[in-house]
Amino acid sequence: MTTTSKKTHASSKHKLAPRLNWSEMSQSEHFVQFCETDEFLVNSLSEFIGTGLRAGDACIVIATKSHRESLEERLQAEDLEVAAARARGQYVSIDAAATLPKFMVEGLPDPGRFTEVVGSMIARAAKGRRHVRIFGELVVLLWADGNRAAAIRLEELWNHLGETHPFSLFCAYPMHGFAGEVYEVEFTEICKQHSQVIPAESYPALASLDERLRAITLLQQRANSLEVEIAERKVAEERLRASENRYRQLFDSNLVGVFVSDFAGTFLDANDGFLDLLGYTREELLAGIMQRDALTPPEFHSLSQNAVKALQETCSSGTYEKEYLHKSGKRIPVLVAVTRIEHSNTCIGFVLDISERKELDKRKDEFISMASHELKTPLTSLKGFLSLLQRRLATQEDEKALHYLSRIDAQVNKLTKLINDLLDLSELETGQLVYRAKRVVVDDLVQETVENVQGTTQTHHLLLQGQTQAEVFGVRDRIGQVLINLLTNAIKYSPHANTVVMCVAKDHNKVLVSVQDFGIGIAKEHQHKIFERFYQVTDAEEKTYPGLGIGLYICCEIVKRHGGQLWVESEKDEGATFHFTLPLFQIGKLL
Ligand code: ADP
Repeated sequence: MTTTSKKTHASSKHKLAPRLNWSEMSQSEHFVQFCETDEFLVNSLSEFIGTGLRAGDACIVIATKSHRESLEERLQAEDLEVAAARARGQYVSIDAAATLPKFMVEGLPDPGRFTEVVGSMIARAAKGRRHVRIFGELVVLLWADGNRAAAIRLEELWNHLGETHPFSLFCAYPMHGFAGEVYEVEFTEICKQHSQVIPAESYPALASLDERLRAITLLQQRANSLEVEIAERKVAEERLRASENRYRQLFDSNLVGVFVSDFAGTFLDANDGFLDLLGYTREELLAGIMQRDALTPPEFHSLSQNAVKALQETCSSGTYEKEYLHKSGKRIPVLVAVTRIEHSNTCIGFVLDISERKELDKRKDEFISMASHELKTPLTSLKGFLSLLQRRLATQEDEKALHYLSRIDAQVNKLTKLINDLLDLSELETGQLVYRAKRVVVDDLVQETVENVQGTTQTHHLLLQGQTQAEVFGVRDRIGQVLINLLTNAIKYSPHANTVVMCVAKDHNKVLVSVQDFGIGIAKEHQHKIFERFYQVTDAEEKTYPGLGIGLYICCEIVKRHGGQLWVESEKDEGATFHFTLPLFQIGKLL
């Protein structure tokens, strides 16, 4: 590249910009100028064409409308008579976009047609002229369109054409069109297609050799750090791909149903496991017709809403059971856990079909119910014969026999209680525990129960403290059952003590009952579990106590169904105090 000392353009701003000698074009030349701004492009173009027109060269401009207009404005400002040149056939200006279709076939430039269209135009203009100058933007249009293969092919065709028609061809590419690693190979190819490559304006604008060397050094450093960055990005992309694959595999494994939804409940994605569970196709689900709530039977709506609330607050719903409605209308019990995808409005849900487990539970409850009913029948007749025998032996004054009989009677009573517990449990589970709710005078019930239980123990003194003078609304026998259970537990689990204290009080709108013993106590880690079904604290050194571990579960259910709460306060070896509340009877507010 030679440096021109005589500037053809008046603007001082661009004084240093052109580094080509526009007046000394060789016979055949195909050069490319990279531009950072459009203004610079128009500037170079007007110098290239202006110099040509002055020298009597033929000038052909195949460019966009705006470039052709800006060019002509410039030429006229420099007192060049564009119209006259055009009339003479020295200046030809045609639209690039309109020219392209004339030689493009199936997305690629056709060599025959190209020669026909452009070659003949050059031949016409060349007649009787010194030289032909062409500014072409056909290639740039193809490039901008993303048809990079066609752009490179067209550059080749220009070169072929140059072999038969001598001309100077000026191409201009915007530099931003090559921003990206993927363009590296094609960028090299474009440069290869040209006999001269002129870097974008920021480089030729540097006046001294020192400035240019510094600029190159800086560019080298930048290129180097970019390469490092690209390598790092590739590693990161690889990691991301691997993680995406892992997630996909998990998603597609169908071990559990998985869905992605927004907070409003619109499904965004779902795996086959989830679709199978519900009987819908993916299209149906994602069409937005099936909202998450539409799949949930109404009685579970508030549960779902609670889960969504928890999700918004803590990013996780925890696991909870509910039901879904299969497309066929069938109810499917499921275990659900939903997690919010961080910093997004979407959540991912995991759904496990628990139909089988529920079915087993139901069968187990049915079995317990049946078995305890069956056991009750022989027990009732056992009890009947026992009292017959007791009466008969009483007349014979056989003390020994009577003593044994009363031992048998106590054991039969225990057995009856166990079986009743089992029956209660199965009735609770199947929702059959029918309440015959009435107004219950608390103090009377408490007094009566304490007296009854006192009659069964010779080891403990039951102390009753306080009065409520209140009524609750509920089933007397069931509330009595809670009191009996807490009192007998207190006796059973305090073998070395001799007192159990029962306190009753009225507190605002509820009744508070507490049963305190001075026995073995319950360690903290067991306290929340003792209210579950079949849970008994087992301790290696402790002696074991008879029971099934369902008494407290039943108490808890009864209290809950009466609108109250049951809880325990205890330390290991320091006794236990069980408390429960019941709402006061209020007219107009029935259970
Ligand atoms: P169980 O029939 O075994 O007594 P419960 O449901 O009534 O069943 O009680 C569950 C478990 O809670 C018991 O096995 C016992 O370990 C513990 N527990 C209940 N009441 C007391 C108490 N007053 N003191 C210490 N432990 C108790």
